[in-house]
Amino acid sequence: MASPRPSFSQPTKTPPSSTPSPPGPIPIPGGGVPLNMREVEELERMTKDFIKDMDTHAPVITSPPTEVCGKCGEALSRTQPAVRAMDKLFHSNCFCCMSCHRPLQGMQFYDRDGSPQCEDCYMSSLAVCSRCGEKITDRVLKAVGQCFHAHCFRCSTCSCTLEGAPFITDDNNNPYCVQDYHRRFSPLCVSCNEPIIPAAGSEETVRVVALDKNFHLKCYRCEDCARPLSIEADENGCYPLDGRILCMKCHTQRAKQAAQ
Ligand SMILES: [Zn+2]
Ligand SMILES: [Zn+2]
Ligand SMILES: [Zn+2]
Ligand SMILES: [Zn+2]
Ligand SMILES: [Zn+2]
Ligand SMILES: [Zn+2]
Repeated sequence: MASPRPSFSQPTKTPPSSTPSPPGPIPIPGGGVPLNMREVEELERMTKDFIKDMDTHAPVITSPPTEVCGKCGEALSRTQPAVRAMDKLFHSNCFCCMSCHRPLQGMQFYDRDGSPQCEDCYMSSLAVCSRCGEKITDRVLKAVGQCFHAHCFRCSTCSCTLEGAPFITDDNNNPYCVQDYHRRFSPLCVSCNEPIIPAAGSEETVRVVALDKNFHLKCYRCEDCARPLSIEADENGCYPLDGRILCMKCHTQRAKQAAQ
């Protein structure tokens, strides 16, 4: 006599994470305006005058603090040309690509956490989308150990977007929306022929396995009289006979008929 047990299976689910990367996707044209220190001081004096005009109680600073280069930290001399970029001043020969060190004065550059990067280095540092193969210049969606454009991370069956949505992956790491995953991979109930999936709002799949067959809990009934069977091995449980799922009463009846 078999004593069927309910089995609980729960597929692994990973929430997709969306991380903003790379940090500075906005190209800054012009590479900063070259200024010499006299012009810088002139600009600052004008700014201070402007502030003074707005608030007569603003402290008056007579000697401006020494400006240092945003790259090497050395003082900027009045005679050397300087580059103003990303709210900092640089020696013009210090303002170069953080990766290949090519001079960037007057060129388009990308602000990578306060360091300038040339366009070529920026482009080659970009992640490639696992679905479309194109470089990702905006947000990188990281999921299943790969990088995607947010709009490229979709269900493998219905192509609905999975960004911020629950999804489940198959053995080959292909993502599916929860519904399609269960439609495709969940066991079928031998009684009603529908997939056995978690109840709405639940992540736990409840199925009854009896005689190597799968049943919904609600479909686990006597084949002869349709009486619901208990999953416990008690008098309301299953009394299988010749591969049939039977209640105790129907089992006894069939056994009697067979003996006659
Ligand atoms: Zn410098
Ligand atoms: Zn470079
Ligand atoms: Zn893509
Ligand atoms: Zn889908
Ligand atoms: Zn069923
Ligand atoms: Zn019965």
